[in-house]
Amino acid sequence: MFESLSDRLSGILDKLTRRGALSEADVSEAMREVRRALLEADVALDVVKDFIDRVKQKAVGQEVVKSVAPGQMVIKIVHDELIETLGRDPQPIDLAAAVPVVMMMVGLQGSGKTTTTAKLAKRLQTRERQKVLMASLDTRRPAAQEQLKILGEQTDVATLPIVEGEDPVTITKRAMDAARRGGFDVLLLDTAGRTHIDEELMAETASIEKASNPHETLLVADALTGQDAVNLAQSFDRCVSLTGIVLTRIDGDGRGGAALSMRAVTGKPIKLLGTGEKIDALEDFHPDRIANRILGMGDVVSLVEKAIENVEVEKAEAAAKKMRKGTFDLDDLSDQLEQMKKLGGMGGVLSMLPGIGKMKKQIEAANLDDSVLNRQQAIISSMTKKERKNPKVLNASRKKRVASGSGTSVQEINKLVKMHRQMADMMKKVGKRGGFGGLFGGGM
Ligand code: GDP
Repeated sequence: MFESLSDRLSGILDKLTRRGALSEADVSEAMREVRRALLEADVALDVVKDFIDRVKQKAVGQEVVKSVAPGQMVIKIVHDELIETLGRDPQPIDLAAAVPVVMMMVGLQGSGKTTTTAKLAKRLQTRERQKVLMASLDTRRPAAQEQLKILGEQTDVATLPIVEGEDPVTITKRAMDAARRGGFDVLLLDTAGRTHIDEELMAETASIEKASNPHETLLVADALTGQDAVNLAQSFDRCVSLTGIVLTRIDGDGRGGAALSMRAVTGKPIKLLGTGEKIDALEDFHPDRIANRILGMGDVVSLVEKAIENVEVEKAEAAAKKMRKGTFDLDDLSDQLEQMKKLGGMGGVLSMLPGIGKMKKQIEAANLDDSVLNRQQAIISSMTKKERKNPKVLNASRKKRVASGSGTSVQEINKLVKMHRQMADMMKKVGKRGGFGGLFGGGM
């Protein structure tokens, strides 16, 4: 999957890594090529534009990290922005609703709707231990209901008995009733498709939605249709509330245009990927894994990640050294707060500092989350240079000024100054022993 796009992108970016220094022109040239590759992969124009802008912006503002070549850094940025475009966090099928949880599958004929219904049913039954009932609401295509029944027999998933002559809404009601009576956890409704969108199809789909109030409404779309799949999602979403997308035929999709545009254009998450005709060829959609596949440069990305981590550690160590010498001022404290935010709060810092385990409770009690850290940084940045170097000069009127400048209170400033003093004092003491035992002790 995504081979052709992957080949193109890695070819372009590989050229960058072989250079020692990068000029802005080098990056611009590479981004022009990336842009062309994405457009040829049938990624929506707005998505491409936005993507390139973000990468350029970050590449210009990037910090230089020792032991990483600039080209490698660009690859990491491209990788991160791919993840962002794909939707960042995985959005799995949601089962958190009263049983039976109703899921409605919609889409055009031939998109793989019936196959996907059976795949999903099988997976929910085996992996999630749900008792699943499937019902085909396709009264148009003569063999459709029969097809689902056969798939049910093959996969050992129950299907609603076929009653000739019923309309889709009647079947829906019967299915819901059967699901309730039969103690099913999940009811999958496989709706009828058409070769193209028409009003009749939309009206039918909307009436089934109304009758079943589904918890998930999944559009099944053929990835090979590229931007058409994205337009289809937009059309369907105008008539029913889609909760997610299943992209099928990813196994044959070299370009990835639908996968890359879907989230950004429609705002709907891709939840699952169909990767073949077999019943188990269904994958969860993980933006980071897909980005890895598209870029095919996992080694470089993890190398850069490690190097960035090391820089954070180096900075933390430099600050600790200053503390031990007693030259740790409020500017240094502000740097530390920034580090904490970057590392995802105290958890990240803790994991890097040896011998701090026993302090964990105290630190957690101090409740140093991002909002607290932001306020503390605001306080420090409202101080003059002199006050930051030597907090002792902060008398009552200076504190008042800082409080109003930072939108905080004198009390908060006192707490911060106290914390700083304790940190500096304690570091001097424990500095001789080594370790960080006294860091962030009390006072907050
Ligand atoms: P429906 O009309 O939307 O219900 O489509 P079907 O479920 O009948 O699927 C149409 C064809 O596509 C069948 O031959 C399926 O085996 C095939 N198909 C479905 N999903 C995938 C997929 O993810 N990959 C591949 N290669 N084929 C698929």
